[in-house]
Amino acid sequence: MARSARKLNGTVIVTYRCNARCNMCNRYKAPSRPEEELSIETIRKLPRMGFTNITGGEPFIRTDLPQIVRELYRLSDRIVISTNGYFTDRIVALAKEFPQIGIRISIEGLEKTNDEIRGLENGYRRGYQTLKTLRGMGMKDVGFGMTVQDRNAPDLLPLYDISDEMGMEFATASLHNSFYFVETKNIIHDRPMVAMNLERLVNRLLKSKAPKKWFRAYFNHGLINYIYGQPRLLPCDMSFDTFFIDPYGDVMPCNGTKDKEVMGNLNAQTWDELWHSPRAEAVRRRVRQCDRQCWMIGSVSPAMHRYIWKPAWWVLRHKLKGLFSDHPYSMYENRICRDYRDGKVTKEQLDRCSTCDAGAAVNDGLSERDRREARDRQPPGGPTKGENA
Ligand code: SF4
Repeated sequence: MARSARKLNGTVIVTYRCNARCNMCNRYKAPSRPEEELSIETIRKLPRMGFTNITGGEPFIRTDLPQIVRELYRLSDRIVISTNGYFTDRIVALAKEFPQIGIRISIEGLEKTNDEIRGLENGYRRGYQTLKTLRGMGMKDVGFGMTVQDRNAPDLLPLYDISDEMGMEFATASLHNSFYFVETKNIIHDRPMVAMNLERLVNRLLKSKAPKKWFRAYFNHGLINYIYGQPRLLPCDMSFDTFFIDPYGDVMPCNGTKDKEVMGNLNAQTWDELWHSPRAEAVRRRVRQCDRQCWMIGSVSPAMHRYIWKPAWWVLRHKLKGLFSDHPYSMYENRICRDYRDGKVTKEQLDRCSTCDAGAAVNDGLSERDRREARDRQPPGGPTKGENA
């Protein structure tokens, strides 16, 4: 079967197992079983990709990850692995074999904050040490990733400074709720405080000499917009030129939906059958109506390339302002920030605009058997957040 001619952006979730215990993600309570996780045969059926993100769970839990990467390099121009950085030896060994690979290590703040949020003993030290080792080996495409929440927002700028000193990328995200995170209750409480820290980061990024950082400034401007529950600044085209595949071979538009949206299954179908199926088309129609307004790099980066004039115009305006001011960007450029400050909208109204839904049942996206086993692993005394009601 011929492959699709156009190169896609793919995210490969190689496992739902995770060794961390993050406060914003219950995935560790709802892991996949190794026997059911994506096989090399299924990975070989993926299409040509311009960019591939490998993620989990914690992808380095899979000891056959080097084999997976070898296969994906046949299909993809660029690969970035998202990891918590804990398995230093495995990461370094992989980086020796693939020095061109990208590694993003999730660090959720300075040492104390990170270790509290991630529930991983010595998590910060190990992650930081892994990054330093990779840098020392001469790897170029390495960086931090941080999910911003009330607890770690004050650490945003100090962590950015550390990444900048080390010459590394600094990626941000905000709390989300979805089947992927097995969570429905994530929410930012003190929006102005978090936005003010993002505003500082935006101004710091705009000052940089690297154009890539100016566009990261735009991304962080979009994060402020997101945490105030406003419509995305750019359309979402997930499932059109971008896809996710989970450990069961289910192909999905993204990881931001409340329930798992399945376009087809690559264990059972060829890529072309799946991608052009009526089921995939039905998912694309739902994406066009999707109201979750996510602002995650996986859906925003392709949109920033496709609708480049919009972020480029924003960058140009703020670089010009920067000629006359040290702080060319203000969070109050966003009308919703002014309205909240001026009492025209309430916190309750903003909360209702978020995806937080404390009463909702959590869909973990597990197979029936994995869900049963996850439930059996729980201590007596009630259901976990990671299971269906
Ligand atoms: S806005 Fe886009 S990325 Fe978010 S859930 Fe909807 S389709 Fe997925």
